[in-house]
Amino acid sequence: MGRYLAHSDGERSLDACPVVEVSLVVPVYNESATVGLFLERVDRALGGEPPVRLEVVFVNDGSSDSTLDRLLKYQQRDARVRVVDLSRNFGKEAALSAGMGVARGRVVVPIDVDLQDPPELVLEMIEQWRQGYDVVLARRVVRDADSRTKRISAAWFYRVHNWIAKPMIPENVGDFRLMDRITVDALNGLPESGRFMKGLFAWAGFRTTCIDYARPKRAAGSSKFDGRRLWGFALEGLMSFGPFPLRLWTYLGGMVALASFLYGLFIALRVLVVGVDTPGYASLFVAITFLGGLQLMGIGVIGEYLGKTYLEAKRRPAFLVRRIYEPDDCDR
Ligand code: UDP
Ligand code: MG
Repeated sequence: MGRYLAHSDGERSLDACPVVEVSLVVPVYNESATVGLFLERVDRALGGEPPVRLEVVFVNDGSSDSTLDRLLKYQQRDARVRVVDLSRNFGKEAALSAGMGVARGRVVVPIDVDLQDPPELVLEMIEQWRQGYDVVLARRVVRDADSRTKRISAAWFYRVHNWIAKPMIPENVGDFRLMDRITVDALNGLPESGRFMKGLFAWAGFRTTCIDYARPKRAAGSSKFDGRRLWGFALEGLMSFGPFPLRLWTYLGGMVALASFLYGLFIALRVLVVGVDTPGYASLFVAITFLGGLQLMGIGVIGEYLGKTYLEAKRRPAFLVRRIYEPDDCDR
């Protein structure tokens, strides 16, 4: 795959790349109900399009249902399907990394299998890519399909994250996006095994634009992200980029220390003016428990970072691949 030719104004020439090689990267976890629907829709949306040469890289993230068998069956009929089978469930983030690592396309699009990311949008994204953008984000302008709790918690996540961490994560943008080969190579080269993709994508930067869409409901099956998993995901995001949560304790500690010092000064002055005063259990009790609580929280945050450092220090990969099934494999 050669490098693209660019016009002097930055546009990718149609003559230079009349056919775009597109890799869809599709993480799947217990999705036997949706893979068929997905492939049908992708074929309708992108199959007949001459300027698109497609490969669909499914990453089977340790499914315990018949997802893998189905994928292999579809692969026998459709040579555009490639299947990366992970050794167990590593989570969507790791699955995406695995898929991006084997994708060969000139542009790569991570996409959910449940049709919440409409495949038709890929054509619009390619249009923007041809204008010279390296990354085309798909922003959910309507997310009626998500529950109220999910929408509100997502809004708060972005608010808190963008307040305390850099770089900014664009609001209401998921993993669904088009990335040029240079961006994908840059991301593949990142060494960390804790992979909070939204953060990594934002960190990578590159020339970026956005298209809007309304996020539909899941086509079939059920969401794999329950409240507990989302909470863990949000914490991961907040702790992954920057030391602000650690620094917070320096400020808080300073403020509490200053307040205690002033209070001590006040007591000393009062003793000098009015004499010794015995009552004070309540204030003592409050001060001790309050400080105890603060210290425990502080230790907790330090523990989180220490844990992360520990995991990174082991240098274990983010995922293990059991096997990659290519369309022409004959020894299954
Ligand atoms: N997924 C995955 N591994 C997991 C959880 C989810 O590969 O551990 C995949 C899932 O199969 C789907 C995508 O990630 O293609 C998004 O998951 P889901 O639709 O359940 O999330 P939601 O849209 O509800 O946030
Ligand atoms: Mg979904």
